[in-house]
Formats: sequence, structure tokens, C-alpha cells
Amino acid sequence: EEKRSLNFIEIAVENDLAAGKNGGRLNTRFPPEPNGYLHIGHAKAICMDFGIAQKYGGTCNLRFDDTNPVKEDVEYVDSIKEDIHWLGFDWGDRLYYASDYFPKLWDLAVKMIEEGKAYVDEQSAEEIAQQKGTPTQPGTESPYRNRSVKENLDLFIRMNKGEFEEGSMVLRAKIDMTSPNMHMRDPIMYRIIKHPHHRTGNTWNVYPMYDFAHGQSDYFEGVTHSICTLEFEVHRPLYDWFVDELADDSYRPRQLEFNRLNLTYTVMSKRKLLQLVKENLVAGWDDPRMPTICGLRRRGYTPSSIRNFIDRIGYTKYDGLISVSLLEHSIREELNKTANRVSAVINPIKLVITNYPEGQVENLIAENNPESPEAGSHEIPFTRELYIEREDFMENPPKKFFRMTPGQEVRLKSAYIVKCTGCKKNEAGEVEEIYCEYDPLTKSGMPESGRKVKGTLHWVSAQYNQKVEVRLYDRLFNVENPAEEKERDFRELLNPDSLIVKTDCRIEPYLASIAKPGDRFQFQRMGYFCVDSDSTSDKLIFNRTVALKDSWEK
Ligand code: ATP
Ligand code: MG
Ligand code: MG
Repeated sequence: EEKRSLNFIEIAVENDLAAGKNGGRLNTRFPPEPNGYLHIGHAKAICMDFGIAQKYGGTCNLRFDDTNPVKEDVEYVDSIKEDIHWLGFDWGDRLYYASDYFPKLWDLAVKMIEEGKAYVDEQSAEEIAQQKGTPTQPGTESPYRNRSVKENLDLFIRMNKGEFEEGSMVLRAKIDMTSPNMHMRDPIMYRIIKHPHHRTGNTWNVYPMYDFAHGQSDYFEGVTHSICTLEFEVHRPLYDWFVDELADDSYRPRQLEFNRLNLTYTVMSKRKLLQLVKENLVAGWDDPRMPTICGLRRRGYTPSSIRNFIDRIGYTKYDGLISVSLLEHSIREELNKTANRVSAVINPIKLVITNYPEGQVENLIAENNPESPEAGSHEIPFTRELYIEREDFMENPPKKFFRMTPGQEVRLKSAYIVKCTGCKKNEAGEVEEIYCEYDPLTKSGMPESGRKVKGTLHWVSAQYNQKVEVRLYDRLFNVENPAEEKERDFRELLNPDSLIVKTDCRIEPYLASIAKPGDRFQFQRMGYFCVDSDSTSDKLIFNRTVALKDSWEK
């Protein structure tokens, strides 16, 4: 483990603990809205919320922030739980739903109405927005601002009974229409939504807004540090104002903000991710090109590679764009240490060793992982006819082509040095078969095996292999920051080559005998691959997690 210095949130927490605030307790929460699957940005929040509680002996609540029934669903609740566990974190018995607080929030709203701190506004959303003013111009007060407590109470109760249409009225906090902070200009506390809720059904026709629900939920749960992303920094005075309505001196939650994660060549907004899924622009939330946790899992990422990536990028007070190469580096680094090396030919062409005895089979020894000798070795059958990658042969190559070309020697990995003697072409001029001669004295361990040749190629036996499908994934978008291309439809920015399916790939028998869904391997020279969950006993499917080298950043 690399040592890193404390981030500003850890420092703030250490100071609060040292000062004995809230009785020296640390209680964080992770508050996803169940309106989509978790993505790598959420992983950053999860690593903070759960990680900091772990580090300082505190607790972390999982709270579903389910205050908008229109977009929420139990499908999302279940996937969120699965993904948090997969990332390596656990909420134990600390599972909460903001919807469980609807009665308490209602009571608080009623109390605020009775104290003259909240009123029902019957203006349209547009009128309310217009009266908000600008950061440099004070807003104007609603004509409904000073109606009587009795009238406010009556309307609020009838709003919840379902007597009024959506959008016809809202409950607002009576704060200050001249505040320099726009969020303090009589924020909306409740709106009418007539849509069944995935947990409370048709009990409610009014639902609390984020700002009203969030701090109160923190308070009800005893949360001490409510850590969120920077866009909520300007909401903090309102968070504190609402908490004041509940808090006594003995305890109060504190909001802290860090920079959200944005990654190059992808989008992170749940709205856009949902659109990709709904419009079948990807195969689903767990499409290996998606920045979702389930997508990364299916792509072959490990929980530790994601946690290490998050640890490396750190937490700051400045928003920015992180290169996806850093994420790729993290999984490549890990798999280099842990993934066994195997032989797979993705785009096969036949290589015939003309001086090798027909019918002969040698079981050669292939090292599993040069980075970890204890990983051992396996056998790979060598025969007169092999498959190699089509791209590894050129009849008239440019300079410095150290692969298969007439007259040149190359090493076949774990086997012999061969010299190319020519090829056969079809009528269209396409190469159909390549010929070479082997030198029997160049087998690993033999006197001539150390002979200097520049290229080493991977291969599989043409007689002993298994046909598989390989899915080559690349970046989903062609532009670094799709969210910034405001004038263009983001569908136009998709990379048309983000998925290339190869159906006639050949793998060595050893791999065929052990591969099961989720397993990860290094295909010699081709990258890191994992076995896809679509695989059946008849047909294995491999996803490319990442190439061996970064081909985008030269
Ligand atoms: P979206 O805006 O796409 O709907 P969200 O922020 O509303 O996303 P939530 O489900 O409310 O999604 O997020 C739960 C928690 O995860 C919040 O505390 C939020 O701040 C945090 N989070 C969401 N996206 C990111 C991100 N890109 N980087 C860091 N934290 C994030
Ligand atoms: Mg949201
Ligand atoms: Mg949110």
C-alpha cells in the first residue's frame, strides 16, 4: 500500500473527533436515489462515506433517497445494494429509506406552518422562478406569502388529500427573498406528485424536496458528517437552516463537500445513462462500455482496481476531468500481477511448418505468469499446423516489422524459432496460408534457443483448439468530454467502433478447460480478457477488459 497524506475531509473529521463534537461519534451515510444503477462516480462517494467510517471506527448508513416516486424503482434498490457489496463495503443493519421519514417530515412541515415559517404558494413554476431574482438582484415576495396559518394548514392538508393538480401549488419555506444566496429565497419544501411510490404506494400526494428531506434525514439518523459533492456547497446554509428547525445543542450533522468524478470519453449523468439503455445504444446497464459498476464488473474490472483508482485521484475542492487512462492503468497493473497468461488467436490464419512431422504432437510448457513464479505452468500442444494472428504476417512489410515475413526468423512463444518461407494466396490476392520451417535445436532449453530473433508470436494448434467469441471493447464516445458538447446530440458523439465482435477466435485447450464466467486472463500480446456471463457450455465469450498498452495516449 502506498502511503498518502490525509485529505481535507479526513482532517476535518479528525479535528471534530479530537474536539469531542457530537460525543466523539462518526456516522456518515451514502444516500443514492434509486433512479438508476450506480456508476464509477458513485464509487468515489462510496469509498469516502464507507471508507472514512471504517478508518476512524465510525459507522456508515445506506439511505435510499427515495423522495421522487416518478423515477424510482425497486430494481434500482436491489442493484445498488449488490454493487456496494461487490465494491467491498457493508452497511450491516444500517439500511434506511428517506420515505420512512415522510410522516416525521410532514409533522415538521406542519409545525413550521403553525409557526409562520412556511406557506402554500399557488403560483406557477415560471412565476416563482421569475420572482427569484438574480444573484445581484433581490427577488420579489409571492402574493401568497402572508396568507394566514389557518389557510396554509387547510391547503397543505388538502394538497396531500389529492384535491389539487400537480403543479398547481407548492409549500415554501418563508426565509428571505433578498438573501444573496439564491437557495435561501423561499425554497420549495413540498410539491404535489400523483404517482405511486415503490414503498409507500398511494399514501402520499405531496413529496418533500431534496433540501428539506436530506438534512432532516441526516438528523433523524444521527449522521454526524454528511459528505456530498461540490454542487451542494451553495445549499449548505439552507441545510443548516432546516436542521436548526430540529436540532438542539447536543447534536448536529455537518455537511462537507468534495469534487465529483468526471471521466474522459464517457458520461456520468444518470439521465444520459438511462437514455443510452432505453434507446438501445448499449446492450443494458451492464454493457461493458458503460461507466456503471455492473458494466465495469462485466468488463473485467476488480473491486480493488476501482478502489485503488479512487484512492489515487483523491478528494479535492476543485472540479475537473480525470483521464480514463488512469482507470485503465489501475486494472492493467493489477491483472499484470494476477492474471495467468494464455494463448488465444483473435483473427486466425493458418501457419504450416513444412518440415515438422505430420501427426506429431508435442506438449510444450507455457509459464502461467512471469510476474509470479508460484503461479506455475501449463501444457500447450504444438503441431505441424498452427493458427497465428493475420496481422502478424506481411508479405511486403515496412522497415522494423519484426513479425512473420518471408526470409525472416521469429520465435513462436514457448516453442521454436521458425523461418518464414512464403505464403499461398487466393484469386483475390488474399493470403490463405503461411509457410515456414522450424529449427529443432531452438526449443526452449536447447542449445540454439537463445539465438537472437526480434519478434515473438503467440499461436494455437490448428488441430487442438476451441473456437470462441471475443468482444473487443473500446471507448463509448469519440470526444473527451461529451457533456460539454452542448450543441450536438450526444448520440452523434458515440464511437462507432466501441464494440467489435470476433466470432472465429481460437483458444488453447488449457484455457478452454478452465474458463468460467468472471475469470480473468492475459491473452499473450493481445490484452486482458474476462469470460462473459453470456457464455454457455458450447460457446465461450471473452470480453476485452483493456489492451496491454494504452493505444490512445501516445
Ligand atoms: P445524477 O445527477 O446523475 O442523477 P446524483 O448525484 O443525483 O446523480 P445520487 O443517487 O443522488 O445521484 O448520488 C448519491 C451520492 O453519490 C450523492 O452523495 C452524490 O453526491 C454522489 N455522486 C453522484 N455522482 C457522483 C460523481 N460523479 N462523483 C462523486 N460522487 C458522486
Ligand atoms: Mg439525481
Ligand atoms: Mg441526487
